[in-house]
Amino acid sequence: MSKVVIIGAGGVGAVVTHKCAQLPDVFSEIVLASRTVSKCDAIAAQLDRPIRTAAIDADDVPSLAAFLKAEKPDLVINVALPYQDLTIMDACLEAGVHYLDTANYEPLDTAKFEYKWQWAYQERFKEAGLTAILGSGFDPGATNLFTAYLAKHYFDEIHELDIIDVNGGDHGYPFATNFNPEINIREVTAECRHWEGGDFVATPAMSKKATFECPDGVGTYNIYRMYHEELESLTKHYPSLKRAQFWMSFGESYLKHLEVLGNVGMTGIEPVEFNGTEIVPIQFLAKLLPDPSTLGPRTKGKTCIGCIVRGLKDGKERLVYLYQICDHEACYAEVKSQAISYTTGVPAMIGSKMVVEGKWREPGVWNVEQLDPDAFLDDMNKYGLPWQVIELDPSFQLDVTMGQDI
Ligand code: NDP
Repeated sequence: MSKVVIIGAGGVGAVVTHKCAQLPDVFSEIVLASRTVSKCDAIAAQLDRPIRTAAIDADDVPSLAAFLKAEKPDLVINVALPYQDLTIMDACLEAGVHYLDTANYEPLDTAKFEYKWQWAYQERFKEAGLTAILGSGFDPGATNLFTAYLAKHYFDEIHELDIIDVNGGDHGYPFATNFNPEINIREVTAECRHWEGGDFVATPAMSKKATFECPDGVGTYNIYRMYHEELESLTKHYPSLKRAQFWMSFGESYLKHLEVLGNVGMTGIEPVEFNGTEIVPIQFLAKLLPDPSTLGPRTKGKTCIGCIVRGLKDGKERLVYLYQICDHEACYAEVKSQAISYTTGVPAMIGSKMVVEGKWREPGVWNVEQLDPDAFLDDMNKYGLPWQVIELDPSFQLDVTMGQDI
């Protein structure tokens, strides 16, 4: 029995709320709070059990702390935007509440995400006897735990990691993003960094491309190497890694639109003056694009996200692939959301379940791979994200079609 406050009523917030509401024995009381309370009310109306809703500005630490002191939840599930991570952590410390999120802090005025700001809270959470779980979505989140699970059960030492995120879904729009457009475009247009021989190596965005045949008939897709936040924590926590890369699939139409929008300055984060008003181009663009939480009824196809790990077991080289396939239409039938929100919201619910059940309760600030993956992966099988492990021939290499020498 526990009480949770969920902050953020977007695409991911809707899924977390549905999934927590499905487990009344674990999450006996749920409060959904966001900047726009009507969005919380619309989600609450989809559920078959009552929850409470509230209007809250998570940038305002004193009022958020006062709200949490009055509500006295066991845990705050932060599925607002990465800009709110630090203010919500501050309010949790003040109110004595455990914390969980799905994306690392990013300052509004710099398109650069790093864990250093949140890792700096380690001592304060430890001293307060509180737990903060960082990055309990799919990637980061499930991908970190897939790596930890493989390292624990399949290897003595891991050397290479390829995280491959394929979205084979089609929503029928020429250009739309599957999660918050501003965060998505900032991430995709950032310089690529991958781990090679003990350091991060920078290359231009989208300059390395491969084709990847997903298992179980999901299809073959173009995947592009890019930087993703779990590379920072995984290379820190698995120092035996010699190389770590993150790959994501993109369609031609998405890339063409992104290139043109970038060329004309629409993805910029610096304010520009327009008719006497300051506007930030990427925020204006985000306003024009379809709201990701409305893509559910239109999206067909599957996602396939997983980790290929190379390493040693009993002195022999081994290559293992752990992956999860999710069907957009099945997600919509269950919780009225497409699979990107679903694959993020379910791990956020499971991570929260780990905290409130006391399985992940060590005081301090933790990336999920620092915690035991076994119960989490069991729950993925139970609560909508079943996964598979297959052994690959160690001679397997990704079929790189562009940027071979980089
Ligand atoms: P949305 O934009 O759909 O939703 C964000 C919500 O946060 C909105 O309801 C918004 O409220 C609310 N919000 C924003 N600012 C504040 C504030 N100051 N106070 C209170 N509420 C606020 O985003 P998504 O649901 O797509 O994404 C949510 C989070 O999940 C993001 O951090 C994203 O990076 C992360 N994510 C993680 C993934 C993973 O696999 N780890 C994958 C996908 C997303 P309002 O609508 O009223 O403005």
